[in-house]
Amino acid sequence: MGAIQLHKHDLPAALDLGPIVAIDTETMGLRPHRDRLCLVQLSSGDGTAHLVQIIPPSMGGKGADCPNLKALLTNPQVVKLFHFARFDIAALENGLGVVTAPVICTKIASKLVRTYTDRHGLKDLCRDLAGVEISKQQQTSDWGAADLTPEQLTYAASDVLYLHVIWTKLKALLLRENRLEVAQAAYAFLPTRAKLDLLGFDAPDLFSHES
Ligand code: MN
Repeated sequence: MGAIQLHKHDLPAALDLGPIVAIDTETMGLRPHRDRLCLVQLSSGDGTAHLVQIIPPSMGGKGADCPNLKALLTNPQVVKLFHFARFDIAALENGLGVVTAPVICTKIASKLVRTYTDRHGLKDLCRDLAGVEISKQQQTSDWGAADLTPEQLTYAASDVLYLHVIWTKLKALLLRENRLEVAQAAYAFLPTRAKLDLLGFDAPDLFSHES
């Protein structure tokens, strides 16, 4: 388990997290257009997780006033690495009003190359590709609380600490199976996919035959 730095409202201005930043979010639930963004976790892949708590004005916080975090999310020179980016991009757009790009998604990579299994959860990838067992016990806890518990902070950090290792393995597999190009095309489309979800075109899915 790596180090954890908790930041209230925004990232520190001087922090450089490198060219590829692992990111995850915690929200009040699974519907990005309904459920408030509570926490944004980031890591450069160096073993440290930076946790930014988004505190609404109703709790005495600054809400979406986080210029450093927004600059990173929208910086075209910095690739944002997620597991199931579709949800996080929607949650970040709904919570902060910015479109996160460019992005990479380990879940999509895993589905494209690990076709011998249907286990593409982060817990599965951590175990199979990073040799790490992570707990998903805090997933459904109250992320809107003013003071997060040590268990919540540890869980939140574990969701970003291993994504670089996992991505390195998956990228090698994408190259081996000649699917890196189609993966990159899918990644370029992800911000639009997230926007469609926020607009309500997720159920029924815009791309399904169902009307
Ligand atoms: Mn998470």
